[in-house]
Amino acid sequence: MRVTPAKRKWTGTLPDKFIATLVELVSAEALRETVEALAAFPTRHTFSPHLGEAAGRISDQFTAAGYTDVVRRPWSHAGHSGDNVVCTKPGTGSGDPVIIVCAHYDCRMEDLNNATARAPGADDNGSGVAAILEIARLLAPVALSATVRFVAFSGEEQGLWGATEYAAQLHAAGTDVYRVINLDMVGRPPEDGSVTVERDEGNAVPSNDAASQALGAVMAQAAASYTALPVKLGPIYASDYMPFEAHSDVTVGAYEGEGNPHYHRTSDKPATLDYGYLAAVTKTVLATLLAEALDVADEARSAVDLYIRDSQADTGSQPSGAPNEASPDLWVRNSDIQVGDDPELGHQTPVNGVPNFLYVRVHNRGTAALGGGVARVRTYQGDSGAGATWPARFQPIGTLVIDQAIPAGGSVRVGPFAWTPHSVDHERLLAIASAPSDHSVPDVYPGELDTDLLVRFDNNVGRRDVAPQGP
Ligand SMILES: [Zn+2]
Repeated sequence: MRVTPAKRKWTGTLPDKFIATLVELVSAEALRETVEALAAFPTRHTFSPHLGEAAGRISDQFTAAGYTDVVRRPWSHAGHSGDNVVCTKPGTGSGDPVIIVCAHYDCRMEDLNNATARAPGADDNGSGVAAILEIARLLAPVALSATVRFVAFSGEEQGLWGATEYAAQLHAAGTDVYRVINLDMVGRPPEDGSVTVERDEGNAVPSNDAASQALGAVMAQAAASYTALPVKLGPIYASDYMPFEAHSDVTVGAYEGEGNPHYHRTSDKPATLDYGYLAAVTKTVLATLLAEALDVADEARSAVDLYIRDSQADTGSQPSGAPNEASPDLWVRNSDIQVGDDPELGHQTPVNGVPNFLYVRVHNRGTAALGGGVARVRTYQGDSGAGATWPARFQPIGTLVIDQAIPAGGSVRVGPFAWTPHSVDHERLLAIASAPSDHSVPDVYPGELDTDLLVRFDNNVGRRDVAPQGP
């Protein structure tokens, strides 16, 4: 079945801008590196000694992303055994519901029991493992309300052995499994370039079907909002979500659909994948996970929306258009404010090596006023040379609390921030406004961001590049 979810407009309401910013960080190159590393093992057949080596590689990659709770949980079935690799990202909420994002890392040849033949398993399922590792890498610094467990299963091709035992272990321990999102073959697009969102249409338990289909709708909307992927809907079928479904859990899957001619063959090699497509599916799953677990103080329902213009024409749109390096809401007065200078006279060329005075205008395009004393503005200076990255290339100037209320549709001036330029011709000024009901992207994502991405995607952030002279 084909569906066409509505393309969502940029509403300026949150938390869309957080999701939009984070999905921009998905790296096709990082995905390719993981697929190539996994496919380099002669095989990852569950009966092969290389299975454990692959588990070690995956475990190391979670650890390198900054996670400290990474374990190999053994399973056994009919005289065979293997490890599931489980990386836990603790949630901030109470009650601790768990979202499982999973992919199997074992693979096979045409002969299911041939544990020695060359089996790269790039699409099936190096692609799914690469996606969960990339999502884990990007989410490492982001606080989420739910606990997320990234799980790489083995024994899948043999009969879902690893997932079956893990699902039983979780339910025996009384774990509140809130969602299960499985990725199995997501690197080689079908002819129409679509992704299939798999939902529960019955199976062992009917009571979880409606919630699964609702989650599938979230995933379909994520694809429409943040990628160009067409979406098909299909059933969950023959992969690691099935044992969870049998325990009544709410499951969905992402799948490229049938038709890969290299399926379960020696020719399932990294070069047969489309890494732009794999990145788009990864973005879809990342956005789905964030929609379920990024809980930033009910911002989506907040009637306050602060912004700093990126250009004269900008009304706070996310992302804003170019240019964005000369915000009319950041301006410098270079004279001594103690002797009666009027900051509203506009921007002056800064004088190098001596204190200047930065002002910031903050607008509220929401439908409700923001009271005084709750919002703050942080300002920074940095070298405006190429490659300037937030926050590494910036130094704080100062923070001021906004004392006045900001009416709906109104604005206030904040300042002065005293600052001393240190480089003739090249400095970059940045201002970030935020309130408990309207966070900025750096409040949520403390990792590195391209400055341009931050300024365009977060309407709470404004920038002005300046050319200090003299004195
Ligand atoms: Zn598979």
